[in-house]
Amino acid sequence: MRTPIMAGNWKMNCDNDEAWELAVAIANEKGDVEGCEVVLCPPATALTTVLAAIEDTNISLGAQNIFWEESGAYTGELSGPMLLSCGCQHVIIGHSERRGRFGSADEDFTPELQQVFGDTDASVNRKLQAALSHGLVPIVCVGELLSERQEGQTDEVVSGQVTAALAGVEADDAESIILAYEPVWAIGTGEVCDAEEANRVCGLIRRTLAGCVGEGTAEQIRILYGGSVKSANVVSLMAQPEIDGGLVGGASLQAESFCELIAAAAASK
Ligand code: PEP
Repeated sequence: MRTPIMAGNWKMNCDNDEAWELAVAIANEKGDVEGCEVVLCPPATALTTVLAAIEDTNISLGAQNIFWEESGAYTGELSGPMLLSCGCQHVIIGHSERRGRFGSADEDFTPELQQVFGDTDASVNRKLQAALSHGLVPIVCVGELLSERQEGQTDEVVSGQVTAALAGVEADDAESIILAYEPVWAIGTGEVCDAEEANRVCGLIRRTLAGCVGEGTAEQIRILYGGSVKSANVVSLMAQPEIDGGLVGGASLQAESFCELIAAAAASK
């Protein structure tokens, strides 16, 4: 059985005081949670603050990005050893916002934004390999734009992203990887993907993983759904056999709503 995960992506929110307050509130409520792994991914500036707040709890710390080199002239980047030294166990890789694929309107996905944020299938693969080599658990995001869905390209886009992300990864190293299916049009928009459809795409991701690292390993890998998860839809999403948890943005910024999601995930399997 795959243990469910609820991961909170705080994105570029929370200064250190706010991060402390939010993490302490979640830790007080769910610090001893069982039956669900909980990961908090604050901005890099708040990693050590959140680490202090979740000390001696069952909650883990994650970063929102990683660079593949260990050190050097890469202004603004953070390496695997740096994330480990802040207490990170997980790292989000290839979030659609980092790939320059913004959700509310496809025209937001301009070449200029792609240049600013810059993640591509190739850089996602390098970041994934770097995370694994440092013993960090990668949470790899994949998902289609609204225009790609409307043109019937969802399966091709998603399976292509999964295959590219896992290129060159050995089956033995792949078990710890977490995938997150995040349809770009559902992120931060309030528009959730229908639970059965999310389950179908997560099933496609698992079959694609099986082609990359074998069926046995693919069965172990957790696949999360992300995109406007909230208390009103979490139960139907978590009831789906291929969905092993959630990657949550907006609803992870309030302790009460995030704790409700954790409770639903813990009760689901
Ligand atoms: C996310 O940031 O990965 C996300 C899914 O955001 P939201 O829950 O706000 O849609």
